[in-house]
Amino acid sequence: MEQLKQRILQEGSVVNDQVLKVDALLNHQVDPQLIMEMGREFARRFREERITKVLTVESSGISIAFAAAFELGVPLVFARRRKSVTTDNDAYCERVPSFTKGIVTDIMVSKRFLSSEDRVLFIDDIIANGDAARGLIRIVETAGAELAGMGVVLEKTFQAGGRTIREQGIRVETLVKISSLAGNRIVFEE
Ligand code: 5GP
Repeated sequence: MEQLKQRILQEGSVVNDQVLKVDALLNHQVDPQLIMEMGREFARRFREERITKVLTVESSGISIAFAAAFELGVPLVFARRRKSVTTDNDAYCERVPSFTKGIVTDIMVSKRFLSSEDRVLFIDDIIANGDAARGLIRIVETAGAELAGMGVVLEKTFQAGGRTIREQGIRVETLVKISSLAGNRIVFEE
């Protein structure tokens, strides 16, 4: 998405070689027009997949997942984060390391909102090492649901998340790929 690349160049900033700050676009402020545009694009790519539910993790994935779910005409479910391990018989829980916060959090999805009847599209804002995605994929597996694929706004291809998940045989669609943040410069992969 050319428009998204331009916005990242204008409003994003490189924190270090590993981290791009996009809080003006995705993580703190969101532009509803741009978010709806991204949702339309994910819906277009997965339209034939008979998706029954869009799944994301709170909080930054929610706006984009909402837009995709709206376009596909299906519910959005967002996994909730919990600070401590709580076993909950009514929920699927997974423990995931947080890339930006350097801590481990538990994510959970109520059994009421995900079942073996579901065909899931997983949407997220950014993929780095893929820990958040792997946690969500495990939840989908435990629920006995089917994962149709994953849509991510921004993939940092110099980190292994996207590649390793594709190697698992999962379809991963990304809107923008960034191959390097070295030297304070954002380099897009064509
Ligand atoms: P992963 O689990 O793939 O290592 O990291 C995914 C999550 O960490 C994303 O949902 C995102 O919230 C956060 N994250 C990873 N890399 C970046 C980054 O470069 N910038 C920002 N703002 N968040 C990131």
